[in-house]
Amino acid sequence: MRFRKLRLSGFKSFVEPAELLIEPGLTGVVGPNGCGKSNLLEAIRWVMGEGSPKSLRGGGMEDVIFAGTATRASRSFAEVSLLVDDGAGGAETEVVRRIERGAGSAYRLNGRDVRQRDVALLFADAATGAHSPALVSQGRIAAVIAAKPVERRQMLEEAAGIAGLHVRRREAEQR
Ligand code: ATP
Ligand code: MG
Repeated sequence: MRFRKLRLSGFKSFVEPAELLIEPGLTGVVGPNGCGKSNLLEAIRWVMGEGSPKSLRGGGMEDVIFAGTATRASRSFAEVSLLVDDGAGGAETEVVRRIERGAGSAYRLNGRDVRQRDVALLFADAATGAHSPALVSQGRIAAVIAAKPVERRQMLEEAAGIAGLHVRRREAEQR
């Protein structure tokens, strides 16, 4: 699977609709402190089904919605779209997650309403996901080094959660 395009609207500091093309090869995001680099990575994790507000540096899920500034009103929803392909330039899938204040999250795959679980399975299939060890958040390396053995085990179990999804999918296919 390859990430092709990311669209954000009302997500954290990305208040106006923004679109980023992800070209083949290595992509670097540079900018001053606080410009939204980490927010971009969090947008990717969020659209992949991240369910923990804490791992998105928030207290509640609605904290991903643009909260407003001294000069700009807050937004009532946040939406992130991630376009992926099969890794060979074929079979494109658009994953969309939207959250509205007071209404929770909704997911779409190629325009069809789906459950969080369907999105999680899509990425589990590609051996990636919101908790995949392929996504390393700021400060995470230091946290792994400083962790007590029990905490480190929890991190490994979190990473292994993806393996669990694989197993559940196989089970479902055998029924
Ligand atoms: P650094 O280089 O320090 O790591 P960064 O480029 O990773 O910075 P981010 O952490 O992605 O920056 O962005 C932080 C900014 O996002 C802050 O200015 C914060 O106020 C803003 N922000 C986060 N959540 C929201 C929200 N819900 N509404 C509005 N702004 C938000
Ligand atoms: Mg950062």
